[in-house]
Amino acid sequence: MFATLSDRLADTFKQLRGKGRLSEADIDATAREIRIALLEADVALPVVKEFVAAVKERARGAEVTGALNPAQQVVKIVNEELVTILGGETRRIRFAKNPPTVIMLAGLQGAGKTTLAAKLALWLKGQGKSPMLVAADLQRPNAVKQLQVNGERAGVTVFAPEPGNGVGDPVAVARTAIDEARRTLHDVVIVDTAGRLGVDAEMMQQAADIRDAVQPDEVLFVVDAMIGQDAVSTAQAFLDGVGFDGVVLTKLDGDARGGAALSIRSVTGRPVMFASSGEKLTDFDLFHPDRMASRILD
Ligand code: GDP
Repeated sequence: MFATLSDRLADTFKQLRGKGRLSEADIDATAREIRIALLEADVALPVVKEFVAAVKERARGAEVTGALNPAQQVVKIVNEELVTILGGETRRIRFAKNPPTVIMLAGLQGAGKTTLAAKLALWLKGQGKSPMLVAADLQRPNAVKQLQVNGERAGVTVFAPEPGNGVGDPVAVARTAIDEARRTLHDVVIVDTAGRLGVDAEMMQQAADIRDAVQPDEVLFVVDAMIGQDAVSTAQAFLDGVGFDGVVLTKLDGDARGGAALSIRSVTGRPVMFASSGEKLTDFDLFHPDRMASRILD
């Protein structure tokens, strides 16, 4: 991920090396190169425009100070602007004052939701929490089983509807699960909901019904970073249909160009909170905008 973007930006900065002072033409040329690099990385156009305008303005105003030469100053500005579009500070889970904290997951089928649910549960366990996973994805025949298997691997309790009860009602399952969590002193409940292959009104309604029934403290939108710009349009649809507080980017280990990671915060106004980067349950962490920016500029 980001390999092409990193290379392109490095080439751009190389051209500024050795310059004593940046002319207007240098700044324009640099801005153009950065624009191309971001567009090639599949970053959404409005985000690219805003980014380039900010870099240009700051590069123009940059004083030639003792510590940094002009090329280094541009790198510093780009770094800071990357951190900004990636969300600035790391956004952590806001735990409820009165447990359990309810975290609801929403997203398309195949986004990596079920895997993520177990990863998040394992991570929370490492933070000293006692999480419970709830199988409210009753759409996909194998989803309940998959959550149970993953939950077992993570060593966390999974609340699932009794088998053989037909399709079942995900709202009732989620509601019952929260009562059960309270009774059994689990302090975080993670509700896995059904996705579809594409954005679908019925799926949105079901997720909204679950949201209304369980009043989650955090709704996390889970999205596959590999789908690039589609991640941004899907996010917009979920924002309108269900609403969410934060984003989880999955499959960051793939060879995606990085556009989803760089666009989603600016377009939706919601922070990326977690990053999932592999099939192992431990391939998961908080999303750190500063570390991600450094990786891009490495
Ligand atoms: P769901 O339909 O949203 O519940 O998605 P799943 O959790 O079933 O994941 C779909 C596929 O993506 C599975 O084969 C997972 O093993 C895989 N997957 C999930 N997260 C990641 C990730 O971060 N990296 C990679 N490479 N694969 C992942």
